[in-house]
Amino acid sequence: MAKKIYETPMLDELENGPWPSFISGIKKLRDEHPDERIQDVTSSLLGQLEHSYETRKGYWKGGTVSVFGYGGGIIPRFSEVGSAFPESKEFHTIRVQPPAGNHYTTAMLRQLGDSWEKWGSGLQTFHGQTGNIMFIGTTTENTQHFFDEINDYGWDLGGAGPCVRTAMSCVGASRCEMSCANEHGIHRHLVNNFTDDVHRPALPYKFKFKVSGCPNDCQNAIERADMAIIGTWRDDMKVDQEEVKNYINAKGENGRQYYIDNMVSRCPTNALCLNDDDTLTVDNRNCVRCMHCLNVMPKA
Ligand code: SF4
Ligand code: SF4
Repeated sequence: MAKKIYETPMLDELENGPWPSFISGIKKLRDEHPDERIQDVTSSLLGQLEHSYETRKGYWKGGTVSVFGYGGGIIPRFSEVGSAFPESKEFHTIRVQPPAGNHYTTAMLRQLGDSWEKWGSGLQTFHGQTGNIMFIGTTTENTQHFFDEINDYGWDLGGAGPCVRTAMSCVGASRCEMSCANEHGIHRHLVNNFTDDVHRPALPYKFKFKVSGCPNDCQNAIERADMAIIGTWRDDMKVDQEEVKNYINAKGENGRQYYIDNMVSRCPTNALCLNDDDTLTVDNRNCVRCMHCLNVMPKA
């Protein structure tokens, strides 16, 4: 039977801006995916979404959905207008923990994508605000099948609800010269210690760990975590004076003034001094390790 296509004039407006539109992505699944089940689910989803926009009301309600042995990791979504949009009446989201530093292989990504197209809607997000891989839209029954399949090849559910949430770490030492910590080792240690508290919510509120390898804090740990773990250095900052001069010379005759204006005078604790001979002195006792000078002159 040909799938039902809903009129979506309001959603169509969301495709007119300069940015990629999630509506175009859902329509692509509806119109081009070879599996009729996915076409039907995504078409129904678009119908409900348009209905929400028309009536200015959300129609998803929560509930309890889990997989055997777990108490969290699934965000249940049941539709209050399921009789009008039956193919998407159950549309649960499954949170899956990413690898430390978000290091994937293409084979891993293909495997996950294939399993999700088999058991879910095909919609997924790398990564949600929580850091999890978000597999968006499946039925209660298929939640268990999907989990069993990906768990067999090594993936585990993330946290949802009042529990220890999925830990996150920056890309760190494997790719980044600023790293001052073993981010992925710390991340792994946290996962191993708190797995039970991630899967079985037992806290009055959620609790998040995030690990950044240096105070640049690419993980936004300070803003987004309950416990931020930030790598830093213990000894005095080393300065390569030749590289300092190279930076200054590369800017031409205004080089010295450029680095006074943009680096020395922007040190939050006035811990930098550019000497007359273009060498740099750091007052290590007053350095608060903000990373600014290291970001301006990374080689020095
Ligand atoms: S937080 Fe620091 S170590 Fe981690 S990726 Fe960012 S700059 Fe690199
Ligand atoms: S790291 Fe920050 S506080 Fe320390 S010397 Fe450099 S700019 Fe100043």
